[in-house]
Amino acid sequence: MNLKSLLGLNCDEAATACSKAQYKETSLREKLKLRLHLFFCKPCKEYSKKNQKLSLLIKKAKIQTCSEVEKEAYRQRMNNAGSHASKR
Ligand SMILES: [Zn+2]
Repeated sequence: MNLKSLLGLNCDEAATACSKAQYKETSLREKLKLRLHLFFCKPCKEYSKKNQKLSLLIKKAKIQTCSEVEKEAYRQRMNNAGSHASKR
């Protein structure tokens, strides 16, 4: 029995919900599920933290209108997503 999927989200879904949440595309139900998942799942929690930091960086970068920083942050996030998925 897998506790994580019992919570309604597996790690992949949590990661997706996480990036959607950044753009405010998640429903309240999805957010609650995501929070619950993050509470029990450490890797996803770390991932979500990184994501939040990155989006802050991106916001700052946008103020400075530096698209290279944004691209780099995006690339890093993709790398993080990949390594997170392969860890399972
Ligand atoms: Zn997870």
